[in-house]
Amino acid sequence: MIENRNNQDKRSKKKSKKALIIVLIDILVIVLLFGGYRLFIYVQDKLDELTAEKIESGDSGDNSQDSQGLTEEQKAAKAEQERLRTEETERKELIAQADQLAFGYNYEGAIALLKSYHGTEGDYRLYTSLVKAIERYESEQSKLLLYGGVYNSVYEISHLFFSALIADTSRAFDGDSNSLSYNKYNLTIAEFEKILQTLYDQGYVLVNVSDIYTLESQEDGTKRYVANKFYLKEGKKPIIISEDDVAFYEYMLNDGFASKLVLDEKGKPTCEMIMSDGTISTGSFDIVPIVDDFVEQHPDFSYNGAKGLLTLTGYEGILGYRTNEMTSATYSEDVEEAKKVVEALKADGWEFACHSWGHKDMQAAEVELLKNDTDRWISEVGSILGPTDIYAFPFGNDIEMGGGIYIGDKYEVLKESGFHIFLGVYKEPWLHIKKNYVRMTRRPIDGQTFFDYPDRLKDLFRVEEIIYPSRPDKTW
Ligand SMILES: [Zn+2]
Repeated sequence: MIENRNNQDKRSKKKSKKALIIVLIDILVIVLLFGGYRLFIYVQDKLDELTAEKIESGDSGDNSQDSQGLTEEQKAAKAEQERLRTEETERKELIAQADQLAFGYNYEGAIALLKSYHGTEGDYRLYTSLVKAIERYESEQSKLLLYGGVYNSVYEISHLFFSALIADTSRAFDGDSNSLSYNKYNLTIAEFEKILQTLYDQGYVLVNVSDIYTLESQEDGTKRYVANKFYLKEGKKPIIISEDDVAFYEYMLNDGFASKLVLDEKGKPTCEMIMSDGTISTGSFDIVPIVDDFVEQHPDFSYNGAKGLLTLTGYEGILGYRTNEMTSATYSEDVEEAKKVVEALKADGWEFACHSWGHKDMQAAEVELLKNDTDRWISEVGSILGPTDIYAFPFGNDIEMGGGIYIGDKYEVLKESGFHIFLGVYKEPWLHIKKNYVRMTRRPIDGQTFFDYPDRLKDLFRVEEIIYPSRPDKTW
């Protein structure tokens, strides 16, 4: 019994010793496992933090300090993480770029841009953000309405025309012999900017003249002009703007107007102006850069990048370049400069029209004068500008009085010179789309209309909300 007890004691002692060792081993394993796990989590967190910091600070990853002490495998893993983040940023930027196109109704362009993406994994279909953006564009596009649901046809579109803007009112309205004419025909920058804002607020969208028609091939092989149909967001309505006589004529240069269109360091059109102290400044002193700036801030104000129409005479050159002075020592330079500006303007969404060479009344003129003038414009201006088929009549005086159809020698002269789109002036929208030509009238937006016919503008804006307070009183 005693022996037995002894044996039992020994055995139980042995047993409890064994149990203790097992417990200790268990504890050790738990501690090791848990500690290892904690350590693993800690290292993971630190790595994530580091990557996040690097991305936020725009660090490109070329940092040898971070790489110190990392194995090749860890370096590769980090590089992979970097690559993924960089590609994600690229896609975000691409979507932002496509959004700009979609704002301006260029959904096809936006979709094509995203579909052109190719990442390390493969094409756009593998990236949810791109697929979702494309779906969003397709959905928006499917909801567009013909002329925004506001107009029934292109015949309702207004075409507003402006002259060069007064950048310095104190010089324009200084009481000299030109002040009256500026008061009558030119708007100030402040007035023009208010008009743009008001048009935008009312849902207007800039379209170009060439957006309203197509020269369509017929089954019999002939061609004819047909009205275009275009689609805008609900409540949006198309409008056209143009600026006449974009020459910055000599007589205006000391009166507070821009002196020429030039390109800034990014190649974007801007203005030069001779300031009152004789120095030259660059900035948004006229319609082109002002509209460009506005559209940049409100991309949905422009349909497919449309800006407006610039009409050019030739007798003092174009856009502020005296390309009429063919014997001038700087002639070739002026032509080269003017060509560059023209190309930039076209790329920027501007269209051009002939406004005659000598700014003569072509309704009163003999056919011979019209022919000579047009030939001269084509050789002096057309050679710099490239082809245009739009002709804006000086003073709005159309060769055809009233709303009849074009026949006769003057029409033949213009047609043979390549002009098929003709612009007159009238107080409200008016449009003819005929087999061989298009005629459209433009509404003058100037001091004369402000003072004499404010009611004609009431569908666009209230003159009293636009007119510059220090504009002189009417003196005509
Ligand atoms: Zn004119």
